[in-house]
Amino acid sequence: MSEKATMEKIVSLAKRRGFIFPGSNIYGGLSGFWDYGPYGVMLKNNITRLWWRIFVEEREDVHGLDSAILMRQDVWQASGHVGGFVDAVVSDTVNGRQFRADHLLEDQGYDPTGMSIEDISNHIKENNIKSPNGNPLSEVSTFNMMFETCIGAGKGEESKSYLRPETAQGIFANFKNIMDSVHPQLPFGIGQIGKAFRNEIAPRDFIFRAREFEQMELEYFVHPDEWEKWFDHYREEIWRWMDMIGLDRDSIHELEVPAEDRAHYSKRTIDFEFDYPFGRKELYGLAYRTDFDLKSHASKSGQELSYLDQEKNERVVPHVIEPSLGVDRTLLAVLVSAYREDEMNGEKRVFLSLPVAIAPVRVAVFPLMKNKSDLVSKAREVFEILKKEIPRVIYDESGSIGKRYRRQDEIGTPHCVTVDFDTLDDQTVTVRDRDSGEQKRLKIEDLLAELK
Ligand code: ATP
Repeated sequence: MSEKATMEKIVSLAKRRGFIFPGSNIYGGLSGFWDYGPYGVMLKNNITRLWWRIFVEEREDVHGLDSAILMRQDVWQASGHVGGFVDAVVSDTVNGRQFRADHLLEDQGYDPTGMSIEDISNHIKENNIKSPNGNPLSEVSTFNMMFETCIGAGKGEESKSYLRPETAQGIFANFKNIMDSVHPQLPFGIGQIGKAFRNEIAPRDFIFRAREFEQMELEYFVHPDEWEKWFDHYREEIWRWMDMIGLDRDSIHELEVPAEDRAHYSKRTIDFEFDYPFGRKELYGLAYRTDFDLKSHASKSGQELSYLDQEKNERVVPHVIEPSLGVDRTLLAVLVSAYREDEMNGEKRVFLSLPVAIAPVRVAVFPLMKNKSDLVSKAREVFEILKKEIPRVIYDESGSIGKRYRRQDEIGTPHCVTVDFDTLDDQTVTVRDRDSGEQKRLKIEDLLAELK
């Protein structure tokens, strides 16, 4: 990680360069919601496409899914979310500000690891803990983080539904459909990318803790005897993935989550934590979910959710290994890892050293000046050649050449190609490397090979 990546700089660059804007911005913003602008959505799409390729498409044993966000409330009752997806909340008795009780303890130097909601409540009382404004706190209460909504015109209990707080349940709810339609052999996985919603008590740290976010989740179904092997496999796969997107290994730490802090369904969880500028926080989770979900859904729905091993002639309820990756936390870790400052030609420069595979723009093509029609048409010609062969090539003629380089540096474009007067004579262009700023002269005919 670059020493210079503060949150202030990242947030400001993200807004200035059209990556990420506060949600409902023209009305003053809405806490916990963010809008991805032109370069943000390109970066996000590159990340999700790469995940899909690595975790789904390149695997013969993994199938894709895109399930509905709203499902019957039975799904969330069986999964345990209706009863148990709660956080402990306390409020400042003077100004009414609400806090997640464990975060409040953490911020005041206590370690809430392993504390139950009751422990947290006692701890606050015994230590006479106050709000950050120094005011007394309310009693600790619990708060379910699922957003409720109604389906159809009815308002009764029957029409109640929830915006999904994780994509995983859509996978479990489709286990039987996939078994019956594509007949996979155990072990096999089902992968899904999609939005998830959690009514976080105190969204914070930019896109790190949002109320609407995206997940890339894989449920990998295995024979119960083999869970450890596949847990280790996906542990390695997560490391391989983090290398691909340019996260510095030294900024990542595995945390073996102690039993008392694991979700109710998990027998083993490793959190992959990242050194964000605001501290070391969970980037991803890898969980051994046992057969909890399939068994709960089988029991509530009355459907057979198991696998028939024809060789052994035995029925097993598969166990599940789940690598769960947040898209937004990935994007933030990517920005933090890629952020650089240096000096070029006596001027301070900011650039994003993004891996080529995920940089929003792969190559930018410029004419040296926009008011010379032969330069413009030659640059357009080069742009068309590259565009056919390389994804994400853009053409830009606005502002001075220095400004255009600075813009592309901040977007993280690995290469800029400039057409100048010499191009018209000798068919060569300048190729500038983002990280070193080095410029090479290349023949147009050699350009594709070099950039590819
Ligand atoms: P935390 O402890 O930080 O609240 P969690 O343990 O509840 O996170 P999981 O339920 O394991 O998170 O969710 C899987 C992944 O989804 C997380 O590793 C993270 O990448 C992402 N995620 C979870 N909550 C949020 C959120 N509020 N905003 C953005 N991403 C999130």
